[in-house]
Amino acid sequence: MIDLRSDTVTRPTPAMRDAMHAAPVGDDVWGDDPSVASFEAAVAERAGKETALLFPSGTQSNLAALLAHCQRGDEVIAGQQAHTYKYEGGGAAVLGGIQPQPLEHAIDGSLPLEKIRAAIKPRDFHFARTRLLALENTIGGKVLDADYVKAATDLAREHGLATHLDGARLFNAAVATDTPLATLCAPFDSVSLCFSKGLGAPMGSVLVGSRALIDEARRWRKVLGGGLRQSGIIAAACHHALNHHVASLAEDHRRAARLAQGIAALPGVEVNSVATNMLFAHFPEAHREPLVAHLQARGILAELLYSTRFVVHRDIGDDDIETVIEAFGEYFAAQ
Ligand SMILES: *Cc1c(COP(=O)(O)O)cnc(C)c1O
Repeated sequence: MIDLRSDTVTRPTPAMRDAMHAAPVGDDVWGDDPSVASFEAAVAERAGKETALLFPSGTQSNLAALLAHCQRGDEVIAGQQAHTYKYEGGGAAVLGGIQPQPLEHAIDGSLPLEKIRAAIKPRDFHFARTRLLALENTIGGKVLDADYVKAATDLAREHGLATHLDGARLFNAAVATDTPLATLCAPFDSVSLCFSKGLGAPMGSVLVGSRALIDEARRWRKVLGGGLRQSGIIAAACHHALNHHVASLAEDHRRAARLAQGIAALPGVEVNSVATNMLFAHFPEAHREPLVAHLQARGILAELLYSTRFVVHRDIGDDDIETVIEAFGEYFAAQ
């Protein structure tokens, strides 16, 4: 199948499986897994942060970060469309008593500075304590503007807020803008990075930050049930991705642009945005259901009914993109 639903569908390569097979392991809850230790050290160095901590998922990594930054009754400013706010089951509120203050995004995915400024509550016992600004990069595939990130995090710091970045796809941003990962991480106190998206590991996310923050996050990881034992098998997969799968994200971006070109040429179809490995398009309502069936019959999985997001990833090649464009063309030619 040509699966355009998400970059989470990527499967471990034979070389990645070999790395997993060969990994020396120990009990990581006791700090005894050498593969986890060397992977965490490599990510910390790449991100330019003091230390790093491996998590089973990005949801848990983000949640542990929010719990480490905030106390009960504290508030986090985040985007209406932010994964931490919208797609993580309200975990920070459920488990941490942390109140979210969602803000509308600008078209480029940023949270406008004046909206952030207005949302930071004065120190007064009537209000929750605004404690944290959480941004996301990339967001909807879009790379946040570097000057904006600096201004937003400066603003947060001026008001005594900590800053967290959901960098599930920060490697895509680094590759797309030819910027070192550490430069993109530098403005933030903590950053969560995913290895199970476009980088192709079966699971694994890493939180990077100061030793004090990561110590706190490690405690929360244990509370959340994320202390794993011989997780060197997972770390080895992620380490392989870090060493071998980053540069090729550029291929995904190039293919997403080619797919956008093909889709934009279809009658009545509008490409709303294409950035890094994602494209969003609008298909006339009446076509959606028959199109999904038409594509599926040709071995193509796409989500057209509820959202119209196409995600390109390392398990999709140039030929696959042409197959998808042809399949769309065929459908519309028959109308
Ligand atoms: C995928 C993703 C996460 C983490 O999701 P998990 O499925 O829990 O690994 C966090 N933020 C964003 C933006 C994501 O796309």
